[in-house]
Amino acid sequence: MSVVHLPLPTTLARPAGAAAPVGADSAPGDDAAPGSRGQLVDRFGRVHRDLRISLTDRCSLRCTYCMPEQGVEWLAKSSILTTDEIVRVAGVLATLGIVEVRLTGGEPLLRRDIVDVVRRVAEIEGVAGPLEVSMTTNGLKLPELADPLREAGLARVNVSIDTLRRDRFAELTRRDRLDDVLSGIRAARRAGFSPLKLNAVPMRGVNDDEIVDLVQFAVDNGAQMRFIEQMPLDAGHTWSRSEMVDAGEILDKLTQRFTLTPVGERGSSPSQDYLVDGGPTTVGLIASVSAPFCGACDRVRLTADGQVRNCLFAREESDLLPLLRGTDGHTPADDDAIAELLRRSIAGKRAGHGIDDPGFLQPQRPMSAIGG
Ligand code: SAM
Ligand code: SF4
Repeated sequence: MSVVHLPLPTTLARPAGAAAPVGADSAPGDDAAPGSRGQLVDRFGRVHRDLRISLTDRCSLRCTYCMPEQGVEWLAKSSILTTDEIVRVAGVLATLGIVEVRLTGGEPLLRRDIVDVVRRVAEIEGVAGPLEVSMTTNGLKLPELADPLREAGLARVNVSIDTLRRDRFAELTRRDRLDDVLSGIRAARRAGFSPLKLNAVPMRGVNDDEIVDLVQFAVDNGAQMRFIEQMPLDAGHTWSRSEMVDAGEILDKLTQRFTLTPVGERGSSPSQDYLVDGGPTTVGLIASVSAPFCGACDRVRLTADGQVRNCLFAREESDLLPLLRGTDGHTPADDDAIAELLRRSIAGKRAGHGIDDPGFLQPQRPMSAIGG
């Protein structure tokens, strides 16, 4: 494999141990937007603007890199956040500078109230206008939901598709549903989602021979393709760094077939994008493992059962449920107390995910229960 150098990730804005910048845990200044509680800034100076909400840990597929075939330990139904609770937490985060929300899961479209969730979150006023709401989905329910979701204010959608071969799809996801994903992609296009992004996780000996075909599929279908390096988040804990298909290898395969032109700097976006044969199609490489973007990370996560996670790979969580519901000896908390918990969680964020550290430990939760 030839070595391909992706543009370097942004470095940490502030050395470890340095004092937190003004606004990290201070009250908003005179110039703050109305209702603002200041910004969510960690001790490395990273300002948090992007919220990922996992709406459910349930899923209609069983992708091998994400969920076990059977024996999933589901979150207790009673612990799943209600729409009101989600809207409340998103509202508090909006006062802390969050401007973008991605809804994910598990499979977000399995929630019966999904259109309502989108509508209500998209109505929340952030510091720079209404929150921008996007979604990552396996696409199975898009044929019936693409139009209502768009009408409810969903701005963008990413559909996951790892293979274009039916037998392979059935093996990889343990469900024979490729045709339904393809219908979902068509429905999303018809509904006017643009850009429509397609996500794939290349795996050695599984689908890495389809990297070029997937980009061609995106070109033919007016979509944008994004490849995500496989991360150690599978339920079976079988991930191996040496087996992983990295971004350099993906780029190698693509440049043998297409002319790729880098689009700008990666910045805080995890994706390094390239125009394919001059555009308009782009391909994005998300090199979470081989070129981590932790130094520019601006994400905070909320799980379906109300845990705040400051990193995909965090091993600690902050539990919002008792504050929201007044359980476990708590009285129901006001929004300031919720904001305080969110600030504390971000204050404890580590510099990076540490996948390459000798002491790295995979989080207990599989990806399906964290939210990708
Ligand atoms: N069910 C939806 C879907 O598949 O798009 C949303 C949830 S899924 C966890 C979100 C994204 O995470 C998907 O694009 C999926 O391919 C990706 N993903 C899941 N497990 C992963 C892993 N171990 N490494 C890298 N990406 C992963
Ligand atoms: Fe389900 Fe998405 Fe995980 Fe696949 S990647 S099992 S579709 S949550």
